[in-house]
Amino acid sequence: MEKVVIIGSGCAGLTAALYTARANLKPLVLTGRQPGGLLTTTSTVENFPGFPDGIDGFELMTRMQKQAEKFGARVNFATLEAADLSRSPFKLTVDGEVVETETLIIASGAGHRHVGLPNEHKLENKGVTYCATCDGALPMFRNQPLVVVGGGDSACEEALYLTRFGSIIYLIHRRDSLRASKIMADRVLSHPKIKPVWNTVVTDVLDVTQDRVTGVRLQNVVDRSESVLECGGVFVAIGHIPNTQVFQGQITTDEAGYIVPARGAATNVPGVFVAGDCADRVYRQAITAAGMGCAAAIEAERFLTTLNQ
Ligand code: NAP
Repeated sequence: MEKVVIIGSGCAGLTAALYTARANLKPLVLTGRQPGGLLTTTSTVENFPGFPDGIDGFELMTRMQKQAEKFGARVNFATLEAADLSRSPFKLTVDGEVVETETLIIASGAGHRHVGLPNEHKLENKGVTYCATCDGALPMFRNQPLVVVGGGDSACEEALYLTRFGSIIYLIHRRDSLRASKIMADRVLSHPKIKPVWNTVVTDVLDVTQDRVTGVRLQNVVDRSESVLECGGVFVAIGHIPNTQVFQGQITTDEAGYIVPARGAATNVPGVFVAGDCADRVYRQAITAAGMGCAAAIEAERFLTTLNQ
């Protein structure tokens, strides 16, 4: 029987692991399919306090894991398949095995949102991607015109990163101003290799008959005019979807699937706590996820103390 199982190994999960490990609870962390979470796909993290020169996202997550493990956290590369939270101890199905636990911290994060274009899925990994830092350096994207879809910080970050590889980066945004933070927007708008395309949506990716990306179909949302833009890659950066499907029907979520805490880090199920992007549609920062992970760990520890009194 586990005392604490933590679902997810991003900033929230690993901070919860550090705190519960230091409380001698020997937490079991299930990494999910993306160990280290979304931050591992970021290049330089400039806004995590304590790193005045920035730190590589992968490096930051590796350090967090090492720090949690130093105090006794066990980090397993494993995926949660099902959860029965109807009674305590909770029963988790993990890669076919059942794991029982007294408390659960859900820090399962969020995945990339897809646009939903007719040929988006068919051309995935054939020029359509959701992560510039993972794929941008591939030979297929070198010296090619590239398209980034979105207008938030992620899209700006992707566009800036791709300037190292592409010949020109078209930033396709459905409105006429960026949602991104001012510093990111300023960097993008002043970059000679980035060309914003305002008030425009991508309606499809070309060309399935060639089994690779050759361009995108565009539509101007103001005058409804349509056009085709040639490019060698499409980088989608339009936000995220919370990874909470496995808890549907047991844990309270909002209409978009984000977990709605009952109080602080506590959920509607006593003994189940939540932290990070799977419960945060507002801030979604590495540091806020870490803070939520800390809160969830403290709540879990207090819950166990009360339970065992
Ligand atoms: P976001 O802020 O939610 O922005 C998503 C963007 O995609 C918006 O511009 C949105 O358009 C657009 N969009 C959404 N659905 C779309 C669709 N179906 N078709 C076309 N466009 C669509 O997401 P994010 O950029 O991933 O950022 C998430 C959070 O992480 C934010 O809090 C951000 O500050 C943070 N973050 C920070 C950094 C950094 O500081 N370096 C880097 C990455 C992310 P509208 O503007 O019209 O809604």
